[in-house]
Amino acid sequence: MSKKFDPATAIQDLKQFGEFGGVNPSITDSATFTFLDEETMIETFKGETEGCFLYSRHWNPSNKYLAGAMATLEGTESAWVTASGMAAITTTLLQLCNSGDHIITSVTTYGGTYAFLANYLKKFNIEVTFVNITDLESVKAAFRPNTKVLYTESMTNPMLQISNIPELAKMTGNNGTKLVVDNTFTPMIISPFQLGADIVVYSMTKFINGKNDCVAGAICADEEFIDAISNVNAGTAMLLGPVLDPLRSSSILKNLVTLHIRMQKHSENAMYLAKRFDKLDLKFIYPGLPQHPQYDLMKSLMNEEFGFGGMIAIDLETAERAAPFMELMQERGVGYHAVSLGYFKTLFSNSGKSTSSEVPEEIQKEMGLSPGLIRFSVGLDHDIERTYDLIYLCLADLKYL
Ligand SMILES: *Cc1c(COP(=O)(O)O)cnc(C)c1O
Repeated sequence: MSKKFDPATAIQDLKQFGEFGGVNPSITDSATFTFLDEETMIETFKGETEGCFLYSRHWNPSNKYLAGAMATLEGTESAWVTASGMAAITTTLLQLCNSGDHIITSVTTYGGTYAFLANYLKKFNIEVTFVNITDLESVKAAFRPNTKVLYTESMTNPMLQISNIPELAKMTGNNGTKLVVDNTFTPMIISPFQLGADIVVYSMTKFINGKNDCVAGAICADEEFIDAISNVNAGTAMLLGPVLDPLRSSSILKNLVTLHIRMQKHSENAMYLAKRFDKLDLKFIYPGLPQHPQYDLMKSLMNEEFGFGGMIAIDLETAERAAPFMELMQERGVGYHAVSLGYFKTLFSNSGKSTSSEVPEEIQKEMGLSPGLIRFSVGLDHDIERTYDLIYLCLADLKYL
């Protein structure tokens, strides 16, 4: 089997050893680093030494190992790891934009991202245009001479729309606009940088780490951008300081090596549920079935062996119908009524009331986000048929079928 781009094998082939030959790299549990001669310290501050570390807000060896693995995942020259997904997103946008600049973004994004774009950037006089990212003509029409960023998610939260990354990349190609893609929902499944994105951001809190034991993020980009954000004089990462703790970097790195297996299982289980839901009188969204409006696009973008992902949404139309259903599913062991995703247990929540509650209700309506939309992150269930049966009984007992 040989392929153009194979992130799973590339990560497997990384040879990152500990200082005593450990098969895992050593954890560098130090904030600062000592220098034997003054000259080297001065040169390191100027960024002129290779392989020297000066202070862990700038770089730490443990963070460098994880960043290297994340760069490998996307096929970018470089990467930087952050204390949260929001830190990856905000650092990237604040680095790319100055006061007076303009951003175009998909209106359906993670709620925190929406709030940052809609509310917080006003502080900096950065204007934002919200578009339907699947309507390429309206995206094109939103460009201005001062547009610095086109922002989207590969698979959008919570509508599970698919972004046409190659077409979006054509729009940003020649005019100095950067295409920034949040790939949190589809690591390995979609490789945005390979498809033309300039910068790929992640919440590693979700599938990448997969253990729900910490919050973390990553920025994958070319060396020039990573050098710029970590520059001691003007780098957003260096100066705002959203650095990841090296102990966490080390634990996330050990989870990254099983990501390909987990993604396959999440996808397999979600596909099973989708196929069963399809036989019921039930509204749901899953990009892996042909009735999804971007099914063909998804097929053309994806690295097929990892499936269509673990995210699926059921639309019960009202929040009043969604609430008892979620409570019953929790009680009967379908999974946990909780935000977040990428865990071994199935997690579910009403998007409009939780992870998209930052989006005003009239805009939720405008973008077609139903008040009864329940987003599921399907878990690694060994017996997914049993999970389906439990969901079915919850729906039936509430007389929703
Ligand atoms: C969770 C999430 C974020 C934010 O990440 P944190 O690690 O919680 O800061 C950003 N984008 C998407 C798509 C997410 O699901």
